[in-house]
Amino acid sequence: MAQMIVGGEHVGARSGEVMEIRNPATGEIVDTVPKASAEDVRQAVDVAHEAFRKWSTTPPAKRAEILTKAGELVREHLKDIATIETQEQGKTLRESQIEVGRIVENFEYYAGMATKLRGEYVPLAERDKYGLVVKQPIGVCAAIVPWNFPVSLMSNKIAPALIAGNTVVVKPASTTPLAAIRVVELFHEAGLLPGVLNIITGPGGVAGEELLVNPRVRKIAFTGETGTGKHVMEMAARDIKRVTLELGGSDPMIVCDDADLDAAASAASVGRFFNCGQACLAVKRLYLFDSIADTFMEKFLPKVERLKVGNGMAPDSRTGPLHTAKQRQEIEEMVQEAVDKGAKVLVGGKRPEGEEYAKGNFYLPTVLVDVPTDTRMVQEECFGPALPVFRVKDLDDAITQANNSKYGLGSSVWTRDIAKAQEAAERIEAGYTWINNLHVAYDELPFGGVKESGYGKEHGMEGLDYYLESKSIVVAGTRPSPSAERKAE
Ligand code: NAD
Repeated sequence: MAQMIVGGEHVGARSGEVMEIRNPATGEIVDTVPKASAEDVRQAVDVAHEAFRKWSTTPPAKRAEILTKAGELVREHLKDIATIETQEQGKTLRESQIEVGRIVENFEYYAGMATKLRGEYVPLAERDKYGLVVKQPIGVCAAIVPWNFPVSLMSNKIAPALIAGNTVVVKPASTTPLAAIRVVELFHEAGLLPGVLNIITGPGGVAGEELLVNPRVRKIAFTGETGTGKHVMEMAARDIKRVTLELGGSDPMIVCDDADLDAAASAASVGRFFNCGQACLAVKRLYLFDSIADTFMEKFLPKVERLKVGNGMAPDSRTGPLHTAKQRQEIEEMVQEAVDKGAKVLVGGKRPEGEEYAKGNFYLPTVLVDVPTDTRMVQEECFGPALPVFRVKDLDDAITQANNSKYGLGSSVWTRDIAKAQEAAERIEAGYTWINNLHVAYDELPFGGVKESGYGKEHGMEGLDYYLESKSIVVAGTRPSPSAERKAE
């Protein structure tokens, strides 16, 4: 049985209750984890609160050393962590390995920043005073993580939080805690002080909720659904906790008449079906200029047909199962509603057949056309392997349709014309626009949504700012006061 880690110790729930973690490809139990109560979570927060004084005064270079060492250990154990993740989450082993590799880069990026943190000296109106702006850690931060990228979305939070001098309580999704626990164990092997980084497991409505209401938690870093994010923000408002919210998306991809269609077709296939379509940054609405739509589809559809669905551990699988039966049902309902309203399925649109698929949550990669805009697939977030494709007459039409969404996370435009690219990048309402390349978030660039896709940033130097408070200090009496100077004259 896997355990939580609180104060550097492996612990169970006081009640002794556990939750089962099941493999989405086979339905088999992978392991169990403690089912924490609110009291268990309170204890973890108290431990993190206690550790704050020591960690916040630990020299930044030492914090960086531990983060770097943790990254090295993750790299050493990459295959094992990726295997655990594939078993609990369902994604292919290759996808898990990419994700685990990304967290090492994230740790290296923020470790490098530890010794670069600076404040400011500010001259003031009075000659005998000056101001300082110092950057201070916030305190105990809660990291609440979803199931689609269980280790990278945790790491995006813990690396900047720890480098800034905060302590952390992580709550992974109830169905994907195992790889995250392994990473937290490696931090302790890397020499992290007990209590600085804790991980608790339990249902969102109980364990997560305690993190929202606990007054000792000073910041909540949340990634998950927009609906849950709104609740997090409301609860945080009660005692003015800091929040960053990374929420749902419905990213548009626009392919213009002068685009490199081979590159765009490959990007659309990877961008929609990576992680079985369960990604916040994913091509969820594809807009093709009318004049190239047929040629594009001739290149794109065979790529989708070739994607081999299977158990994530099988080397030839290109896409795994959906994470839960409920998630598959939601995609099936969205596809059915679109078809009922007149959409046509060009590829997929059903479960794969065969004994090997009988016990898993498998669904074929699906492409649809003629999808009415009032369907859930277009209006809400389609969090699975189904893609509606639309024809547009020009760039203005494409941008108008792209912006007709409550979300604003990622987006991409494909064109060789710099003027079109500039126009799209400026007008698309999103936190990120890729021009002629794939939706990949960089450590160096701030990432976060506009509209209902979120609030605040992760990644980049901005990501670190969200774990720091700017404090102003006024220093007086360091020079003779002006009146003393006059008397002396
Ligand atoms: P979710 O909102 O159901 O759960 C996210 C986390 O919140 C889980 O750990 C869950 O246990 C916890 N939680 C649930 N109820 C809670 C409560 N009342 N109090 C505190 N915590 C609670 O989301 P999900 O289904 O796990 O993840 C999929 C969603 O995440 C999608 O909408 C996806 O777009 C979004 N997402 C966004 C980003 C981004 O960076 N913008 C990245 C990945 C996923």
